[in-house]
Amino acid sequence: MPDQNIPRATFGICGGSGTLSFAFPAGLDDNRVTVLAEDLVFDTPFGRSPVFTHFRVDGPHGPREAMSVKMHGWRRGVKRADASLQTFWVFHEAGVSKVLADGGVGSLNHLLDPRDIVIPNDFMDLSMKQDIYVRGDHLLIMRQPVCGNLSAQLFNAASESFDRVYRRGTYTVTDGPRFESVAEVDYMKRLGGDVIGQSFSPEVFLARDIGACYAGIYIVVNYGEGIVRDWEHDELKSIFFDESTTIARCVIDAVSATDMGAPCECAEHRKPSLLDIADERPDDQRPMPTSSREQ
Ligand SMILES: [Zn+2]
Repeated sequence: MPDQNIPRATFGICGGSGTLSFAFPAGLDDNRVTVLAEDLVFDTPFGRSPVFTHFRVDGPHGPREAMSVKMHGWRRGVKRADASLQTFWVFHEAGVSKVLADGGVGSLNHLLDPRDIVIPNDFMDLSMKQDIYVRGDHLLIMRQPVCGNLSAQLFNAASESFDRVYRRGTYTVTDGPRFESVAEVDYMKRLGGDVIGQSFSPEVFLARDIGACYAGIYIVVNYGEGIVRDWEHDELKSIFFDESTTIARCVIDAVSATDMGAPCECAEHRKPSLLDIADERPDDQRPMPTSSREQ
């Protein structure tokens, strides 16, 4: 049954295929983490939400609360865009101001190998999702879509555990869940993408829509078709299972270490919309008034 008492949280965590193989965060066995509530489901204006976990992370800046959602885009019968809207509506209601994501990606750049880590600073959305916004009352400028402060935290955390960590890269977003053809990979590579996946967008701009900072950490799990050599399913599988806890620990490190007062430009790239779009949804399905949740 849905529980509409949405907890307050500063961090929202979008777990992707990078943390697929275990129960995040309880399965980490990390003494900084205390799970406060599990199996939370909420009714949203965009349909019933995926399952959330509410937890606390203790660290040098004191305790911090987070809401995590796992693989929200992969429920049969729920369109991925709707799942993202449900997730970010809950984040907004919870008062989330920092969103972190993780996932597995394919490579487009021939310099990348499986197990390399990419913390993208830009993206190209080739998906067919449309009309995606929780609030829709701001102009979302994508000059610098990823938060420099959050991505630096992920970079620092990943650099302690992985040999090759890249702090720049362009994430090309496709609809999936199928992988891409050789011709598609060649096309996306020519467009300038470094990695391919299905989750960076709409998350990156929904975060800006709700006034939150966003950054993600992605592990290369396979070569794109036609890049370097044929990839192997066993290797992809072993990356999922071997590295998922390490990736998750990087996310927890970032939650713990982020200086909430450190400057970033995210708010500068979100301006009041000049468009006056009529909201024809019933009152009970509209977002709460702006004043109660602005960060
Ligand atoms: Zn920021």
